[in-house]
Amino acid sequence: MVIAPNKVVSVHYTLTEGTAEGQLVETTEGREPLSFIYGIGAMIPDFETQLTGMKAGDKFAFGIPAEQAYGLYDETAVVDVPKNIFEVEGKIPDGLLEIGNLLPLTDQDGNHFQGMVASVDAESVKVDFNHPMAGVDLFFTGNVEEVRDAESEELAHGHVHGPGGHHH
Ligand SMILES: [Zn+2]
Repeated sequence: MVIAPNKVVSVHYTLTEGTAEGQLVETTEGREPLSFIYGIGAMIPDFETQLTGMKAGDKFAFGIPAEQAYGLYDETAVVDVPKNIFEVEGKIPDGLLEIGNLLPLTDQDGNHFQGMVASVDAESVKVDFNHPMAGVDLFFTGNVEEVRDAESEELAHGHVHGPGGHHH
């Protein structure tokens, strides 16, 4: 069976930055393979395109440029935020504003999102709202473990059930 829309695909993969020898981002080695329903937008489109027509046992190695993955780094998405908005009862919680920390924030519409502390001044904090992987070219190596038909219930839910998927 080959990878096509509405198949459940399980893959082992290692994600590195730029090339196969680049910095390790994540890997499924030693864990359950990643399982997803192909063709419903669950994955980066180029990732699915690269797997089209493969079958269990096939190996893959391909790069996806940043602009096709998590986007280019946007300098204008780094903004100055007054420190005092982080105060709780007149005091900034210890350890909250450390470089690299992810801050949970809420906009006027109540949407939750995260920004990373990029730098801290006396009065303000530079918060970086870029995706952590923005500007990073991705490289995937791995192999296809299994390809099977999605069950109608999985298609209705939009996710995989069983090993590597939802249990409910
Ligand atoms: Zn479900």
